Amino acid sequence: MNAPDSTATGTGAAPVRANLLGMNRAQLEAFFLEMGEKKFRAQQVLKWIHHAGVTDIGQMSNLGKALREKLQAVAEVRPPQIVSQQDSADGTRKWAVRVDGGGLVETVLIPTAGRATLCVSSQVGCSLDCSFCSTGKQGFQRDLSSAEIIGQVWLAIKSYDAFQSGKGRIVTNVVLMGMGEPLLNFDNVVTAMDLMLEDLAYGLSKRRVTLSTSGVVPALDRLAGVSEVSLAVSLHAPNDALRDQLVPINRKYPIAMLLRSCRDYMAAQSDRNRVVTIEYTLIAGVNDRVEHARELAQLLRDLPCKINLIPFNPFDQSDYRRPGGNAVSRFWQVLVDAGYIVTVRTTRGDDIDAACGQLVGQVVDRTRRSERYRGAQDSQVIKVG
Ligand code: SF4
Repeated sequence: MNAPDSTATGTGAAPVRANLLGMNRAQLEAFFLEMGEKKFRAQQVLKWIHHAGVTDIGQMSNLGKALREKLQAVAEVRPPQIVSQQDSADGTRKWAVRVDGGGLVETVLIPTAGRATLCVSSQVGCSLDCSFCSTGKQGFQRDLSSAEIIGQVWLAIKSYDAFQSGKGRIVTNVVLMGMGEPLLNFDNVVTAMDLMLEDLAYGLSKRRVTLSTSGVVPALDRLAGVSEVSLAVSLHAPNDALRDQLVPINRKYPIAMLLRSCRDYMAAQSDRNRVVTIEYTLIAGVNDRVEHARELAQLLRDLPCKINLIPFNPFDQSDYRRPGGNAVSRFWQVLVDAGYIVTVRTTRGDDIDAACGQLVGQVVDRTRRSERYRGAQDSQVIKVG
């Protein structure tokens, strides 16, 4: 497990103070024991931060004045900062969030009937360069700390003034599906997920916290031993040749290896009725044909899963196209006929660029990978068609 998030504040000789926001219960207990205090103080502080939304240690009235002063000397509660907020006509709310060092990440709250799902980022940028992803065009800057990850949940609740009114329940589900590959920031992501599940913090059930990975197999195997959150896998292709192009990490961890790891993850769960969500972005002329659907149905036959089809959301740096409704329907029907539960993701927040794959605004496409890929595929499209 990672060391508690602690970062220098200010400049020069400013004291280094631990950021209590990103510590899970075990880390906070260890922190208080190290201070010569009782470990139950951790429970009090967790409730102040994550139930009451308090950042001022001076307001934590059940700690006693002497302890508050002692704590203020060595620690702080420092959330990231909201730089801008946009509200979509469909109720989706997006925040640009500034993290330490000036980097920006985006967080999106998507309300639907009876629930509100918060899409959280785990890294500033991403190193994996999936060809259809706007974040991938940014390159990688750095991992977020656990405080910066859980801080997005904290900020979302704060943004609705919901700490006092609803015990923070404005966020009913969290998906680690924003900027970055969460399994490449393993320790900080696991710590933040601990807090999402912790009753003294956000108290979400393990079914309502979903980690989405592009397939970092060794880290997924490791996750099976420490977490029971729901799993989503960004597959996007039914064979290695195509996935190598769309999701380059597939060259290192090909599909068979990834699906084996998914099966192991599910086998390690205490609840055997759970399934993996397979995310499949449908890109016109690339991976949306009936043959692809048949191949996908065959590929997934041994995995307990449901399939989420995501019609591609075009963005400036990509020349991929969204498939038409008929192509999506045909693809969906093949999978349904094969016995799968299949959903088609409704595009949300289009008017604020908050839909999946559009988390980054105007960025320079440093690699032009999508252009090269489309060029290479044109001949294949003609041949097959
Ligand atoms: S889809 Fe996910 S893993 Fe791939 S580049 Fe985008 S953020 Fe990274």
